[in-house]
Amino acid sequence: MRSKIEKLAQFIEESKKTVVMTGAGMDTESNIPDFRSQGGLWYQVDPTKVATVEALEGNYPLFHDFYTARIKNMENVKPHEGHYALAELEEKGYLKSIATQNISGLHAMAGNKNVYELHGNIRKIKCNDCGTRHSLEDFLDKKSCNKCGSHALRPDIVLFGELLPTDTWDRAIRDVENSDLFIVIGTSLQVSPVNQMPYIARGRTIYINMERARGYNFDLEIIGKAGEVLVGLKEVLSI
Ligand code: NAD
Ligand code: ZN
Repeated sequence: MRSKIEKLAQFIEESKKTVVMTGAGMDTESNIPDFRSQGGLWYQVDPTKVATVEALEGNYPLFHDFYTARIKNMENVKPHEGHYALAELEEKGYLKSIATQNISGLHAMAGNKNVYELHGNIRKIKCNDCGTRHSLEDFLDKKSCNKCGSHALRPDIVLFGELLPTDTWDRAIRDVENSDLFIVIGTSLQVSPVNQMPYIARGRTIYINMERARGYNFDLEIIGKAGEVLVGLKEVLSI
């Protein structure tokens, strides 16, 4: 593992434009469960069936319960050392941006400035029908929209069956295309279109994850915990 982290450090030092992409595995060391290791623990349902437009429109009570539980679960979470390491990399000029699938907001909380929240942010609430912003409390209290009367307040996140925010996606893709080093951290690469990013990157690619992903050809794979690898990286780079 150490020699792989040294290789990672070398790649970063040689790169002029490094871009990171993260998934749920980046946050598990902050005690936010990921999807695939989860096994439908919440309400015995598959999150990929509840985090959907169908559930929002067809079974709002279930949708609301599910997101209430997720919001509560993320209430007191804090970034871990790995998030802070990424913030330091950006501050020291080693890192251009982070594109994240996570809706936790932990990268920004750790201090990263250039973060593309590709799937939105769970603490931001909007009306599903007219888009008006609401407070988190309005959502938790099951309030209706004060603009249009809709009962469907929801987190401003990308549900299965919805498109990613175009502007954020376009800017992230441009960074990935123009990167000479693209580092993928803590994602099973099963969710589209984000799982296309490694194919779009033209420079070196690195995968840091607890398990291997099939169908990709990374220049370097580090099988391990995101937090441990990033702390190790900080040490090697002496930052
Ligand atoms: P996923 O659950 O499909 O995959 C997570 C991957 O991370 C797995 O391969 C797992 O082995 C790995 N992993 C777990 N802990 C790790 C660690 N400490 N270090 C390194 N790797 C680790 O998650 P995904 O690919 O991000 O896709 C799930 C979807 O669900 C995304 O669209 C995302 O928006 C959403 N989601 C977000 C959060 C969050 O915001 N933290 C949590 C769960 C799900
Ligand atoms: Zn409304």
